[in-house]
Amino acid sequence: MTTPWQRTADGANLLGPDGSLGVTIFEEITTLANRHQAINLGQGFPDEDGPAELSRMAQEAIAGGQNQYAPGKGILELRQAVADHQERFYGLIPDPDTEIVITTGATEAIAAAILALTGPGDEVLTFEPFYDSYGAMIGLSGASHTTVPLLAPDFMPDLAALENSFSQRTKMVIVNNPHNPTGAVFPEAVLTEVVRLAVKYDAVILTDEVYEHLTFGPRHIPVATLPGAAERTLTISSAGKTFSFTGWKVGWISGPADLVAAARTVKQFLSYSSGTPFQTAIAAGLRMDESFFTGAAATLRRKRDILSEGLRAAGLDVLTSHGTYFINADTAALGITDATALARRLPELIGVAAIPVAVFCHPEGAQRTRSLLRFAFCKREEVLEQAAGRLATLKDKL
Ligand code: PMP
Ligand code: GLN
Repeated sequence: MTTPWQRTADGANLLGPDGSLGVTIFEEITTLANRHQAINLGQGFPDEDGPAELSRMAQEAIAGGQNQYAPGKGILELRQAVADHQERFYGLIPDPDTEIVITTGATEAIAAAILALTGPGDEVLTFEPFYDSYGAMIGLSGASHTTVPLLAPDFMPDLAALENSFSQRTKMVIVNNPHNPTGAVFPEAVLTEVVRLAVKYDAVILTDEVYEHLTFGPRHIPVATLPGAAERTLTISSAGKTFSFTGWKVGWISGPADLVAAARTVKQFLSYSSGTPFQTAIAAGLRMDESFFTGAAATLRRKRDILSEGLRAAGLDVLTSHGTYFINADTAALGITDATALARRLPELIGVAAIPVAVFCHPEGAQRTRSLLRFAFCKREEVLEQAAGRLATLKDKL
């Protein structure tokens, strides 16, 4: 992600922040993985579906005629389920009518919030590496994008650097916790400092918590629960990760009515409303027993351990992941200096696909992360074992 959006030289088309024409690096790597029948540990999607009862509910909703537009802000049943989920897990009590909007995945939530609240002359601050759509949407909004590095091996920000990155023009600070691509889970001290600085500079906090239930030890702390945060925080989540239905594209935003109304206004003109039959099913998902949520994290933790072990055995330096679907590994140990070039060769070379961490960075950050690869472990255990076997051949094939 080197520059914001740009026109092609002839002005006829628009290139993405990574210079791509309508294909993100995630899709590019997935295509390569498919071409070479590689195990795809690139793009983050599970290889098993979520709960069968939810899938049955969505099928019944289609068969039962829930096939026309949902209300723009989402069906009440789902907005109420999101509100109840926020109360059950975090003690937050959003009003389902004014303080929640259902979106087409977290991706639309991110787009709507950034486009609604920032524009030319504003600065938007994110950690770096950052999830790709933040950079792209900040580019589309016309705001400028400032970043604070997360430094290996634990991917925490330096708090003085964080403070220095705020300015009077900082309109929004974006937190992603648990963090894609690093697997960092931010402790209260970091989040409290973000809130303090957002208050000091009167910035909105946009917090992307799509992996809220997928942590492996550290407790997930929603930013909106911290003192002084709620009135300036928009929280985003998504059914994709929690319920392993990434293709359903059901997400949501919750927060104070004025900020949610702004995001909802933009959402009206991005998609108007989101997939009706999936909404009832996800409402039921959000009401599942606590054991479902803890079970999902425990299962994923075992998968993380299998892949970490495989990466380590393959001679890579593994950077611990505390949450998300992802773990980073440093290929410098094998003499690699350009993990982006390696990621493009990897599917053919050993039959495994991964994403270079540099694509989540501006040029300086890309230098810092140039030997890192991100591997997704949201796959069946036998698939991860098989990937580990293939990774073990890397040393000899380079
Ligand atoms: N934010 C983060 C941090 C993500 O990792 C993803 C998906 N990988 C999204 C947002 C997008 O979520 P959705 O598929 O619900 O649009
Ligand atoms: N969010 C997913 C990931 O980080 C991919 C989504 C996408 O393809 N843009 O892998």
